[in-house]
Amino acid sequence: MNLIFLGPPGAGKGTISAIAKDVFSIPHISTGDLFRANIKNETELGKKVKEILASGNLVPDEITIEMVRLRLGEEDAEKGYILDGFPRTIAQADALASMSKVDYVVNFCLDRDTILKRLSGRRVCKSTGRTYHILYNPPKVEGIDDETGEELIQRDDDKPEAILNRLDVYEKSTAPLIDYYKNKGLIVDIDASLSPEDIVENLKKVLR
Ligand code: AMP
Repeated sequence: MNLIFLGPPGAGKGTISAIAKDVFSIPHISTGDLFRANIKNETELGKKVKEILASGNLVPDEITIEMVRLRLGEEDAEKGYILDGFPRTIAQADALASMSKVDYVVNFCLDRDTILKRLSGRRVCKSTGRTYHILYNPPKVEGIDDETGEELIQRDDDKPEAILNRLDVYEKSTAPLIDYYKNKGLIVDIDASLSPEDIVENLKKVLR
């Protein structure tokens, strides 16, 4: 099954992907995670995109599309995938249509206030990418990852100025994809305010 998780930043796409990949036995492909791994490993790509990610703007389409093309060519993606954070523009969606057949586009619906609360409280473990929330999903010890014992950080793009920019970028460049995929009959709306367990149960029902 080939799935796209579409929705504003902070809607829980990454959290749900981490559970759904095991439920549906397909890899979770997050373009944000791929960029962050390149930044951490100081690759050429990572150097090119570091500032862009910190600002909350989008990486140019050609770079992003090529990265996804390579990733979808890997063996594990043959059985399907969850694309989390891609496509984010119409040009990316057109490129994806020429690479692969999409089965469903899950549209994570969440109001702006909740998005802001979720993003501003998000903390991550830099080495594993595991995410927490200071109120809704706190670590056992404040500021420390439960498994690695490392200090949790706030992503640069979860800081207030970048959050507002990311939401604007979403509205302008990515939200038009809802109609794009509605016209293709692929959209499935999901209430992203529910608990992760309930969201995954709903997904199991609608993605049959
Ligand atoms: P995310 O982890 O999905 O919130 O992505 C973090 C950042 O990575 C975004 O704010 C963009 O700077 C970049 N990024 C991720 N996916 C894409 C994409 N499909 N197109 C362009 N930039 C992207």
